[in-house]
Amino acid sequence: MKNLLGGKGANLAEMAGHEDLKFPVPPGFTITTVVCTYFYENENSYPKGLTEDIKKAITQIEKLTGKKFGDRKNPLLVSIRSGARKSMPGMMDTVLNVGLNDQTIEGIINQTKNPRFAYDSYRRLIMMYADVVMEKAAGLEPTEGKGIRKIMDEHLGEIKKAKGYKADTDLTTDDLIAIVKDFKKIVQEKLGKSFPEDPKDQLYGGIGAVFSSWNGKRAVDYRRIEKIPDEWGTAVNVQAMVFGNMGEDSATGVAFTRNPGNGENKFYGEYLINAQGEDVVAGIRTPAPINSYSKNDQSKNLPTLAELMPEIYLQLEEVREKLEHHYKDMQDIEFTIEKGKLYILQCRTGKRNGTAAVKIAMDMFKENLIDARTAISRVQPQQLIELLLPMISPKAESTTKPIAKGLPAGPGGARGRVVFSSEDAVKWAEKGEKVILVREETSPEDVDGMHKSQAILTSKGGMTSHAALVARGWGKCCIVGCGDIEISHETKSLTTKDGTVIREGDTISLNGTKGVVYLGDMPLSEAIISENESYKSLMELVDMTRKLRIRTNADTPHDTRKAISFGAEGIGLFRIEHMFYGEGSDRPLFLLRKMIVSRTEQERRTALDELFPYVKKDIKETLEVLNGLPITIRLMDPPLHEFIPKNEDRLIQLSRELGISLSDLRKRADSLKENNPMIGHRGVRLGITYEEISEMQIRAIFEATAEMITEGKDASPEIMIPVTCTVNELNHQKIIVEKIHNEVCKKFGLTRIPHSFGTMIEIPRAALTAGKMADTAEFFSFGTNDLTQMGFGFSRDDIGSFLPDYMDKKILSADPFQTIDQEGIGELIKFGMERGREKRPDLKIGICGEHGGDPESVKFCHRIGMDYVSCSPFRVPIAKLAAAHAVLEEDAK
Ligand code: PEP
Ligand code: MG
Repeated sequence: MKNLLGGKGANLAEMAGHEDLKFPVPPGFTITTVVCTYFYENENSYPKGLTEDIKKAITQIEKLTGKKFGDRKNPLLVSIRSGARKSMPGMMDTVLNVGLNDQTIEGIINQTKNPRFAYDSYRRLIMMYADVVMEKAAGLEPTEGKGIRKIMDEHLGEIKKAKGYKADTDLTTDDLIAIVKDFKKIVQEKLGKSFPEDPKDQLYGGIGAVFSSWNGKRAVDYRRIEKIPDEWGTAVNVQAMVFGNMGEDSATGVAFTRNPGNGENKFYGEYLINAQGEDVVAGIRTPAPINSYSKNDQSKNLPTLAELMPEIYLQLEEVREKLEHHYKDMQDIEFTIEKGKLYILQCRTGKRNGTAAVKIAMDMFKENLIDARTAISRVQPQQLIELLLPMISPKAESTTKPIAKGLPAGPGGARGRVVFSSEDAVKWAEKGEKVILVREETSPEDVDGMHKSQAILTSKGGMTSHAALVARGWGKCCIVGCGDIEISHETKSLTTKDGTVIREGDTISLNGTKGVVYLGDMPLSEAIISENESYKSLMELVDMTRKLRIRTNADTPHDTRKAISFGAEGIGLFRIEHMFYGEGSDRPLFLLRKMIVSRTEQERRTALDELFPYVKKDIKETLEVLNGLPITIRLMDPPLHEFIPKNEDRLIQLSRELGISLSDLRKRADSLKENNPMIGHRGVRLGITYEEISEMQIRAIFEATAEMITEGKDASPEIMIPVTCTVNELNHQKIIVEKIHNEVCKKFGLTRIPHSFGTMIEIPRAALTAGKMADTAEFFSFGTNDLTQMGFGFSRDDIGSFLPDYMDKKILSADPFQTIDQEGIGELIKFGMERGREKRPDLKIGICGEHGGDPESVKFCHRIGMDYVSCSPFRVPIAKLAAAHAVLEEDAK
């Protein structure tokens, strides 16, 4: 029914007619979405017979209300509202009080004995009609950048000022009569046409305008964000007007059947006496609470509806009860009280935040209103982020304008003082300052400063750039590719597009979930997940439902512990090289650098021997935390020169520590430089050239495991070779693995050390030759970051410079580094899986690119039959929920 009547129309029909409900809904009719589609396909015209149908429907309303549309004595007034299949709050247009003109107003005055109310309604109609129908729907560009509504608003303001009034309610009948005249004059002057007096013209003008607003900019933008198809169209609801502004016994309000802010099973809402719906939304008057539960700081001293109109409140309570039982979900209701009589104008599934979504779903499950599957489907995976990370208070956000926007790389909220270098971040943080590190982009050298910052903001880079990857791993708030800011290192300042200058030490706040930057200090709300019972029970249901296993990308015992607390079932990617960044890495990083600049194999082996205990210790500590859970340990991947310091001071320091001259060090470093390092000497290629580098890492894995075994503990390492493109590379490394395995077995007196051997599939050729790869590999882990980079030929670090154009011009519908490009890269993955499993039916397959935490990509991995996905610790719950949703979606087919 919703597809045809739209959400609002369907619910109105149901509320009015369903025998469980039978609510007092003002009579009306709905023009279906099919008419909207027809309207757009046929040059804004209507299907045959529509006029006839509308006429009949109006007659029906007339019968039910005893009023007549356009009648002088007893006129019927109607509202015209949009209503798409999925609610698009505030995105489309509405016209109220249709049917009022210089004649019918007399009837309204007679009916109500309230001329002030009548003229107030009339001036509202003129304003709305001029704005929505005569200007917006007609496609007129506002003159002098000012829309007709604004011009009228300003005129109203001037009159109020001249008369010394504070509120609209101070306007007298005479004032309003004059304003109606003025408004009509403004319409004629500014729009070159007169306001239509004929109620029929008003009716058709209003209907056409609502259809047109489906393609208005606001609505189109909203559809893009919410992924609502353009073809759906909107329905139009025409309904008899009821008035909340007929005096002190009238009111209008909005209520939620449960609290949408925290999910509590309490009736929650606001109302305004003697007002129309738009007054509540406009925020001019402070709405009063419907009951004492709904009081807030601003409204705590206002009388509640329960106190003021107890009978009406009880009726509303009854509506609440029935609605929840009928729709089995939290509803939001719009209501109007006209001269002491309650009308329900609308109900729809209420929007809620993440915390509320989880609580409402689980409470309703416990109340036996919904089953487990429905409860799971009621929470969107992304909503869980709010439960895991501190967020900027949504209330503060709703009233603050962002100063810049970038890509949402690391979710959550943060605030702090701006610094422009990693060194400053560390210095300031050590003094106890909360800082936000702002850079063009980050490199491994910045990791310490990044770690010590509350958040990271970069002006360049994409969703898998260094900053994004590292921040996401830590669950740190991060915005990348923020082209709206320009950084000046000389003046230690940044300038936003609108010219705001922010200097070192100034405070900014980031919403990393949305990618938005604010000036100043915004309040944050903290999350303590272990105390959230609803979340815990939801996760139990999720775990019983999903089939896909969820691992984590973690490189330290600390991150591993965190991921396990979030429910990770092992590590899907342990990047050995990450031990060389961040806190406590000085010594191993020095030894690594020493190894890198070695000239001979002997020099290199000596450095590697010194490095070995650090690598082994790091692995062992993580194995301890895992307590037998599987861990995919990837041999070193990045090009070696990435580890050479770029900063002159550090280079000098390194040359001193190594006991070689600066020029000698430079020469050695230069010899490692590459034009295209991402497709240069990296990954397995390092282990082919320098076998000793692979040997050291493999030995560290085996010895750490052997120690665990001899201590009576469990360990299940999986050795993974990165950036392979031919099985010959794998065969080469396998020989090293076997050799070291035998040596370590001998050393520890063991016959076998548990392990498996596999590869990343992150080069298109590896996917295409997966059948051969599976001859040697016992598992595949799709590295979708590189696979996307190499499949598209888009640099993952530079996509920020052109992705916005690709999105704006609709060349791509989504960032392929965020969500798997199913028709391209996805095909490569499917092909690789099929070929691999043909050769080795028990081949274990997962993914470890950033996509492992993206709900749509997780669902894709489920559909194509992967065994697991691996994602950063904070994404584990999201991936789990997405995996459960994948099962529900599959079963629904
Ligand atoms: C990948 O390429 O998908 C991957 C996980 O490896 P990295 O991001 O370390 O290149
Ligand atoms: Mg990779």
